[in-house]
Amino acid sequence: MKKALHAKPFRLQMPGHTPRHARPEPARSKLLRGVSLCLAAVCLAASVSFQPATAATSMASLQNKLNSLSKSIDQHKKELSDAKKKEAAAKALESELKERVGVIQSQIGVLSTQIAAVQNSIGQTEQKISAKEAEITQKQTEIDGQWDDFKKHMAAMQELRDGGSVAMLSAVNDLYELLTFNEVMQDISIKDTEIMDNMKAAKSALEADKVELEAQRKELQSQKAELDTQNYQMKAKQSELNSSISAAQLSAQDAQKAQQTAQAAIESDELNYEAVKKEIQKLIAAAASSKPQLSFTGFACPLKSYTRISSEYGWRKNPVSGVNRLHAGIDLAAPGGTPIYAAASGYVQVAGWSSGGYGNYVIIYHGSMSDGNAYSTLYGHMRSVATSAGKYVKQGELIGYVGSTGNSTGNHLHLEVWKGGKKANAVNPRGYIPFPHN
Ligand SMILES: [Zn+2]
Repeated sequence: MKKALHAKPFRLQMPGHTPRHARPEPARSKLLRGVSLCLAAVCLAASVSFQPATAATSMASLQNKLNSLSKSIDQHKKELSDAKKKEAAAKALESELKERVGVIQSQIGVLSTQIAAVQNSIGQTEQKISAKEAEITQKQTEIDGQWDDFKKHMAAMQELRDGGSVAMLSAVNDLYELLTFNEVMQDISIKDTEIMDNMKAAKSALEADKVELEAQRKELQSQKAELDTQNYQMKAKQSELNSSISAAQLSAQDAQKAQQTAQAAIESDELNYEAVKKEIQKLIAAAASSKPQLSFTGFACPLKSYTRISSEYGWRKNPVSGVNRLHAGIDLAAPGGTPIYAAASGYVQVAGWSSGGYGNYVIIYHGSMSDGNAYSTLYGHMRSVATSAGKYVKQGELIGYVGSTGNSTGNHLHLEVWKGGKKANAVNPRGYIPFPHN
C-alpha cells in the first residue's frame, strides 16, 4: 500500500528540454484531448464534488496532533536544556563553595595550632606561677623561722637588761669580756635585721615575679579567647557553607530529575509523533485505495501562464548515449517562481524532494475521472513546494512554484499524467489537459 504512494525514484533523461526537441502533437493525442474535453463538459453538469469530510476531518485533527506534539517536543527540549544549564550552574556553585570550605578548613587548622600553642603557654605559665607560689611559701617559712630566732635573740638580750645582767656580770670575768659580750649581742641583732631584710626583699621579688606571670597568663588567656572566637566564627561559616553545598547538591539533583522527566517526555512525544505520522500515512493510503470515493470531472492547466511548451511527451533518442527513452511528461517553460496550481482536486501523495531527478516535486492522486479511470498528476523541478503530503487540495489550489531543481537545465514545469494512478501508465498530458498555447 505504502509503495503505491511514493513514486519510484528514477533518473529523468531529458537532454532535450528545449523546443528543438519538441515534436508535433500526434493526431491521436489531439483526438483524445477533444474527447476528454467533451467528456469533461458533459460531466460538468452532473458534477459530483468530492467531499472527503471524514478523511479530511481526521486528517486535520491528526495534523493538529502532529503540530501539538512537535510543539511539546520543542517545549520539553527547552526544559531539558534549561535543566542542563541549571545543573551546570549548581555544580559550579557547589565546587566554588567547596573551594571556600577548603580555605576555611585550612584557616581553622592554622587557628587550632595557634590555640594549642597558646593553651600550652598558658599551662607553662601556670606551672611557673605554681612554682613561684611554692618559692614564696618557702621564703615565708624561712622568714617566719628567722623571725623566731630573732625573737629568741631579742628575748635573750631583754633578759640580760632586766636583771639577767647581774647573773651575766657575775659570769663574766672582766669588763673586756662584758663589752665583748655586748658587741656580740649587737652583732647578732644587726645580722638578724640584715637577714630579715634580705629575706623580705627576696619574697617581694618572688611576689613581683608572680604578678608578672599572672599578667602573662591573663594576656595569654585573652589571646586564647580571641582565637576561640575566630575559631567559632570560622566553624559557623564552614557549617553555613556546608548547608549551601547541600542546597546546591539538591538543586543539581532536582535539575537532573527535571532532565530525566523532560527526556522521558521527549521520547514519549516522539513515539506518539511516529504513531500519528503512521496514522496519517494510513489515512493517505486509505484515501488512495478508496478510489471510487474520489472523483473529478477534468483537468485544468496547472500554470495560468507560461512562455512555451519546451518539450513534448514521447520517445526520443538521447543525443549522447543514443538510447531511446520515454519523456513521460510535458515541459512548460515559465519564469522561476510562477505559481503552480493543482490540475484537479485530490490527495497530495508526495510533496518533497526526489532523489530520482524530479527535484522538488508533488504527486496528486485525483481518483476516478468521468471516463472511469483513476488519475494522478506529477509536477517536477519546483523551486519550492507549497503543500504537504496527505493534504486534500482543490483544483486550482496553489501547490508550488516553477523552478529548475533536480535534473533540469532551466526553469520549467515537468508535468506528468498517470492513468490508473501508476507511473508506468504515464500518458500524454495533451490528451487530458488543456494547454492554451504552444
Ligand atoms: Zn520534462
